[in-house]
Amino acid sequence: MSKVTVTNLGDVRKLSESNRFQFPAVLEMCCPECGACHTKNFMGNDYLSYPTVNAPFEIVVWCPNCDAETPVKLKLTITLALVER
Ligand SMILES: [Zn+2]
Repeated sequence: MSKVTVTNLGDVRKLSESNRFQFPAVLEMCCPECGACHTKNFMGNDYLSYPTVNAPFEIVVWCPNCDAETPVKLKLTITLALVER
């Protein structure tokens, strides 16, 4: 089973002058070929390049256990909430 979890409160970070962004979220998934479970940490090296809001996009998760590459479809959504007027 695959899921994306928001790990904690954290900043969205833009890396230097590039179009790479880090988000406080982790993708947890198990390889459909061998069953080994892995994570992709979007706050670490698994940043998103040129992220677009509300448009599905695909990433590939590589399994170091069996060398399988599994495409995963994600969508970035942003919620802005009024806390106080
Ligand atoms: Zn595998």
